[in-house]
Amino acid sequence: MRQTRTKIKTLLENAAIDAQVLVKGWVRTKRGNKQVSFIALNDGSTIKNLQIVADPTHIAEDTIKKINTGACIAVQGKLTESQGSGQAVELQAEKIDILGEADPEKYPLQPKKHSLEFLREISHLRPRSNTFGAIYRMRHAMSYAVHKYFHDKGFFYVHTPIITGSDAEGAGEMFRVTTLDAQNPPLNKQGNVDFGEDFFGKETNLTVSGQLEGELAALALSDIYTFGPTFRAENSNTTRHLAEFWMIEPEMAFYDLQDNMDLAEDFLKYLVGYALKHCADDLEFLNQRAIDEDKNKKQSEQNSMTLLERLHFIIDNEFARITYTEAIDILKNSKPNKKKQFQFLIEAWGADLQSEHERFLVEKHFKKPVILYNYPKEIKAFYMRQNEDDKTVAAMDVLFPGIGEIIGGSQREERLDKLQKRIAEMNIEEEKLWWYLDTRKFGTTPHSGFGLGFERMMLFVTGMTNIRDVIPFPRTPQNAEF
Ligand code: ATP
Ligand code: MN
Repeated sequence: MRQTRTKIKTLLENAAIDAQVLVKGWVRTKRGNKQVSFIALNDGSTIKNLQIVADPTHIAEDTIKKINTGACIAVQGKLTESQGSGQAVELQAEKIDILGEADPEKYPLQPKKHSLEFLREISHLRPRSNTFGAIYRMRHAMSYAVHKYFHDKGFFYVHTPIITGSDAEGAGEMFRVTTLDAQNPPLNKQGNVDFGEDFFGKETNLTVSGQLEGELAALALSDIYTFGPTFRAENSNTTRHLAEFWMIEPEMAFYDLQDNMDLAEDFLKYLVGYALKHCADDLEFLNQRAIDEDKNKKQSEQNSMTLLERLHFIIDNEFARITYTEAIDILKNSKPNKKKQFQFLIEAWGADLQSEHERFLVEKHFKKPVILYNYPKEIKAFYMRQNEDDKTVAAMDVLFPGIGEIIGGSQREERLDKLQKRIAEMNIEEEKLWWYLDTRKFGTTPHSGFGLGFERMMLFVTGMTNIRDVIPFPRTPQNAEF
């Protein structure tokens, strides 16, 4: 009978001593002597390796010789209690097939400590490292948690377009989508490129947000969310920005800003709780990894809490909620502002907050996540609901330790006249938004929503510090390898 393969995770969880099993995976290490070899095998189902014991009475020496780090093998044998420390069970190999060899002279991922920079250069192989295996598995778990959270609350998942014809938001930071000949594009009478001749008969771009279309759905289905790829051609080479990232954007009819903040806080806590509950092994590894990394840092740059402590801290504490105006007061009178340690000094109301200010509020002042709300209308988008003071809009940003902004959201302007006025003030072409404005003409109602950058959340739950390390194949300026 053909034996079916067992995944290592299943095997370790239901270890049946004496069971005859078949496992397949990639060799992490091999050690031992002439009498016996110990092979650490990993198949990605868990961070844990299975120890394979191979001796020349069962396995040809020639085969054992070919089992090097990186090779892919299939092993049949009997599961036994392990003699050594470090694992409860091990597999006594009776038959080993080498599915794919890996030349030890050439395989780049040798079992030693590699820098994250080096691992980025071998992004095609880095999922075979403990760190990236953990990150890949956690990305999956967190994606599933996003869907579960909203599904359980009666939200509907809406697929908003990736190619968009609306450039109302993020003009200048968009990637153009075209089939026109770059060498020789058709020109109009003015000598400009004639996008009427382009595939869609107009200028199109990759989306920077699914929100506007999400609103259309919310004003029919009440509670919806999107979760898809998002593109920004911002040339900011930071550790928090990608040119291609994934965003989760819930949009809710009948929610005001308060409801919006409540949902955002509950959602973030749920995701963190889900990770703690369902990713324990990977988190334990990442926690220790971060502790080890800290040891090489200056005292002042070390984390005051471990990763696991930070995750528990999020769940156990209410987020602080303060207005933008209150935040400006705190920042103006703060030590780094007075001592001119901020790169951008806060002088007056109206200033756009930089990541250094956000992190000061979270890490130094409040020492917990902060929701800032009611921002000056000048620094926010046209669709945010205008407050009575005529100066601020009902915007909210959720700020997290180590990251800064993790969520940006708002109550939307549902009043047609106010919305049209703002669109005019901001020199946006109203005609292009005719379909968006229709929702304010027909059955408009208060509604709210926000955007959570999935990779920013991944930074937080994995304790990684560069956003390039929490997405399998990062897209950043000058980099689209793999
Ligand atoms: P930032 O000020 O950090 O650039 P933003 O104000 O441009 O953020 P929004 O337009 O509000 O961000 O987008 C919603 C969320 O999407 C942000 O809170 C963040 O989590 C995430 N996000 C925005 N830009 C990026 C990016 N380039 N890479 C990864 N995530 C991003
Ligand atoms: Mn931005």
